[in-house]
Amino acid sequence: MAPVSKLFDFVVIGGGSGGLACARRAASYGAKVAVVEGSGRLGGTCVNVGCVPKKVMFNGASLMEAIADAQHYGITAGVPSVDWGFLKSARDAYVQRLNGIYSRNLERENVEYIDGTASFVSNSEIKVNDAVLRASHILIATGGHPVIPELEGAELGIDSDGFFDLEAQPRKVAVVGSGYIGIELAGVLHALGSEVTVFTRTAQILRHHDSIIGDTMLGEMKRQGVVFEHNSSVRALRRNGDSGAPPIELSWTRTDGPAQTQAYDCVLWAVGRTPNTRALNLAAVPGVRLGATGHISADAFQNTLERGVYALGDVYGKSELTPVAIAAGRRLADRLFGGPQFAQSKLDYADIPTVIFGHPPAGTIGLTEEEARAEHGADNVKVYQTRFTNMYNALTPYKPPTAMKLVVAGPEERVVGLHIVGRGCDEMLQGFGVAVKMGATKRDFDACVAIHPTSSEELVTMR
Ligand SMILES: Cc1cc2nc3c(=O)[nH]c(=O)nc-3n(C[C@H](O)[C@H](O)[C@H](O)COP(=O)(O)OP(=O)(O)OC[C@H]3O[C@@H](n4cnc5c(N)ncnc54)[C@H](O)[C@@H]3O)c2cc1C
Repeated sequence: MAPVSKLFDFVVIGGGSGGLACARRAASYGAKVAVVEGSGRLGGTCVNVGCVPKKVMFNGASLMEAIADAQHYGITAGVPSVDWGFLKSARDAYVQRLNGIYSRNLERENVEYIDGTASFVSNSEIKVNDAVLRASHILIATGGHPVIPELEGAELGIDSDGFFDLEAQPRKVAVVGSGYIGIELAGVLHALGSEVTVFTRTAQILRHHDSIIGDTMLGEMKRQGVVFEHNSSVRALRRNGDSGAPPIELSWTRTDGPAQTQAYDCVLWAVGRTPNTRALNLAAVPGVRLGATGHISADAFQNTLERGVYALGDVYGKSELTPVAIAAGRRLADRLFGGPQFAQSKLDYADIPTVIFGHPPAGTIGLTEEEARAEHGADNVKVYQTRFTNMYNALTPYKPPTAMKLVVAGPEERVVGLHIVGRGCDEMLQGFGVAVKMGATKRDFDACVAIHPTSSEELVTMR
C-alpha cells in the first residue's frame, strides 16, 4: 500500500518547548501546521522531565526547609517528613494536566498533532509511521537526552529522567556531576531527607558560571550536610552482594589516589546531555550538518544549510533553556509566516538570564568576571560585590550567605554581568535582566532607590 501523503505549509519535528511555540505562532498567521512528537506526550523535556516536575520538587524541598526553620520564630511545626509517593502522584497528575492543556491548545489553534517518530526523506518530506508529510518548511526541534557514561555497570544508575520515575525516596544517593541539573537534584534530595554525596571531577561545582555562585553554593551545601567527593572519577557500579547494605556499589578514584568504594541506594548520573538526532535520518538532508558537539548547526536565523530546514532549541545547543527555545521558535515563525515586517526576526542570544534552583537558589546573566576581562580587557573591567545574611536568617542560628556580584565594563561602567546567590535570588533576577539587556550602567543601578528591607536592595547600593 502506498504511504499516505499529507501536505502542510510547515512541519515541526518535536512537540517540546521550541516546537510547540513555533508551531502555534505559525498557525496564528494562518499556516497549515503539523507537529510530530515521538514520545506519546506533548511538552517535551521541560514539562515532562525537566523544569516543571523539578520546580515542584524544589518547592517541596523549600517547604521542608521552611518548616524546619519555623522553630526559630517560635512556631511549633514538628519535625517535617515527606510522603514521597504522595508528592510523586500529585506532581505526575499536574504534569498530565499540562499534557492535556498542550494537546487542547493545538486542537483549538488548528495545529495537527501527529503521534510518531519523524525521519527525513528529503528537505521537503518527512516520514512518520506510514505517512509522508510534505512541506516547504520543516523545523527540527527534537531536544536532547541525558548522557549515561560508558563504564562498567553504568546501567545500574539512573539519569534525570529516571529521577522523576522514582517511586520511593532513596535513602542514600550518589549524584555524579556538578552542573546545574546535578546540583539542583542533589539539593532537592538532601532537603527532603536523603543522604547525598556529589561526585565532581574538580574542586569546584557549577563551573560554567561565575565563581561567586559555585563557591557560595558549595560552601552552603557542605554546611547543610551534603558530602562532596572532589577531583573524583567514577570507575564502575556493581550490584552489592551484601543484602543488608544499599544495593549499588560505586567505585571511584581521586586524582592519583587508590580506588575507593561506597554503597548507595541510588546513583544519579548528571554528566551532561546530548542532542536527539539519531532517528532523523539526516543522511537524506546533507545540508543539515552537525557541529563538534553533535548539535545541529544553524545560522542566526536558525537556517541550516538545507533549504527550508531549520533547527532550534536544545538540538541547536545554544543556551539550552526552555524560554530560549520558545523565543527562538516564535521569532522563526514570525519570520517565515508573519509577513515582511518580520523579515529580520531572530533571537538575540546575548544576556539571557537563568536561574539555578539550588538550595540556596542562584541567578545569573551576562559575562562572568573572567569572560568580561577576556572580552573587554582586564583594565576595563571592575567588579562590585557584597556578601551578607538575609534578614530571614536573623533569628536562625545558622547564617547562610547571600552573595552578589556586578561586573561592569568601560568608563561608563556598563553592567555586563550580574551574578547572585542566596534566598530569593531566583525571583530577583528577571527585572534586573531587563536592565542589563537595556544596557544599564552602574550609575543607573545607583539611581534606582532601594526597596527596604529586601535582599535585592543590595544590588542598587553597592560601592
Ligand atoms: C532536569 C532538567 C531540568 C531543567 N530545568 C530547566 C529550568 O528550570 N529552566 C529552563 O529554562 N530549562 C530547564 N531545562 C532545560 C529545558 O527543559 C530544555 O532547554 C527545553 O525543554 C528544550 O526545549 P526543546 O524544544 O529544544 O526540546 P524538548 O523540550 O526536549 O522537546 C523535544 C521533543 O522532541 C521529541 N522528539 C525527539 N526526536 C523526535 C523525532 N525524531 N520525531 C518526533 N519527535 C521527536 C522529543 O520526544 C521531545 O518531546 C531543564 C532540563 C532538565 C533535563
